Amino acid sequence: MLKKRMGSSAQQHVLLFPFMAKGHTIPLLQFGRILLNRHVAVTVITTPANRPFVEESLAGTAASVVTIPFTSTAVPGVESTDKLPSMSLFYNFALSTVSMQPHFEQALEALPRVSFMVTDGFLWWTLQSANIFKIRRLAFTGMSSYCMSLCRVAAVEGIFSGPQPKGELVELTQFTWIRMCKDDVETEFRNREAETAAHEFNTKMMETTMNSYGVVENSFYELQPAFVDYLNSNSSYKTWCLGPFCLAAQQPKKIYRVPDTKPRWIRWLDEKLEQKCSVLYVSFGSQPEVSLEQLEELAVGLEESSVSFLWVITKKNWDLPEGFEERVKSKGMVVREWVDQREILMHESMKGFLSHCGWNSVLESVCAGVPILAWPLAADQHLNAKMVDEEIRVGLRVETSDGSLRGFVKREGLKKTVRELMEGEKRKEAMKKVGEWACMAIKAVEEGGSSWSSLEFLLQETSV
Ligand code: UDP
Repeated sequence: MLKKRMGSSAQQHVLLFPFMAKGHTIPLLQFGRILLNRHVAVTVITTPANRPFVEESLAGTAASVVTIPFTSTAVPGVESTDKLPSMSLFYNFALSTVSMQPHFEQALEALPRVSFMVTDGFLWWTLQSANIFKIRRLAFTGMSSYCMSLCRVAAVEGIFSGPQPKGELVELTQFTWIRMCKDDVETEFRNREAETAAHEFNTKMMETTMNSYGVVENSFYELQPAFVDYLNSNSSYKTWCLGPFCLAAQQPKKIYRVPDTKPRWIRWLDEKLEQKCSVLYVSFGSQPEVSLEQLEELAVGLEESSVSFLWVITKKNWDLPEGFEERVKSKGMVVREWVDQREILMHESMKGFLSHCGWNSVLESVCAGVPILAWPLAADQHLNAKMVDEEIRVGLRVETSDGSLRGFVKREGLKKTVRELMEGEKRKEAMKKVGEWACMAIKAVEEGGSSWSSLEFLLQETSV
């Protein structure tokens, strides 16, 4: 039963420490807004180079921002993963965050009493600091319970270590409606014996998460009840589903009083809406990596497809085929700036999302009622794509040339699946399901909804 918080909300103070990657920082800052809306004081810890982004994201709020220095041994001077020249440096970058621990503890000494801290699961060492200062630490994983559960179950049921080929599907005994193969999970997640930086990092992350007070998840219970229940029955910590943060944060819709201030891509989408064109949004998140050959095939596939598309490219070194932008200009726009992705997905002309399936992108698309064409590249994206396609059924996957999960995607496979997403039979089911999930997501964050109530419970539990 929910009790009223005993007037304690005014004194509650939550510390947030996002990992320095856009896909981890954005949701935790949205969570900061949610807490502020619930009259909880918020302090965000970040590094000097990330401070402008944090401040801009929290503009107009009463959040405090505290900066601590960070010198990455991966590439000195780089303080955010999207600025790394290659994601092969990721583990080196992430492991070197431990150098921030003394600065973090100095900052904790100077802060008013903290009710609890939510720090990124990647910042494993913050648990030790939390214990020293006797502060409850909740880890933010940036992943779904579906993904966390399947990784755990597949390891327990021997799917990672079995003799079967990488692509062979094996039925799970824990979740009998799911069949998994090794290729569903990145090698560095499933190879638990190797003496590598990846192994060291993943072990530290898992152990400290298990010993934390809880896990904060950017999701809502109704989206994946079997998986949240599984984790809660099989872990020492509780998983708190408090999202989708992008909805719960209640950021006001942008209104452009001066037309010129409207970004050119939104004006272009307005035009497409007037022309009654359905638009496909194409984005692979803040730090994608693909081969030059694959990039070319993607570009040609989009060019030869019959759809209008808005392609946001975050990588500076993604060179498109010569003359591409000129040739596609009547139906396609390429943007190489940071955009407000949620604003794009919410635009009325938006009818599909070709996505790498970063967890934030999946949730943002679901909340906007936009079906997904999944093209996962790395990390948890393959399991998110599986969830999109098989579990919540809000889309389909791109077709690879050899039919394998991680195979090369040729233009034909892309064109075929783009057509299917935008006008095929699968679209009908995906539209129905995505509409249902979007409604449930709204209900979850409304007063009395599952996410709203869970946060209330968490605040009550931590107010003493
Ligand atoms: N994003 C954005 N503008 C861009 C590119 C990305 O706002 O130009 C946001 C996107 O809305 C999402 C986050 O960056 O919130 C990316 O997170 P996701 O988990 O989808 O992918 P990642 O970048 O972590 O691979």
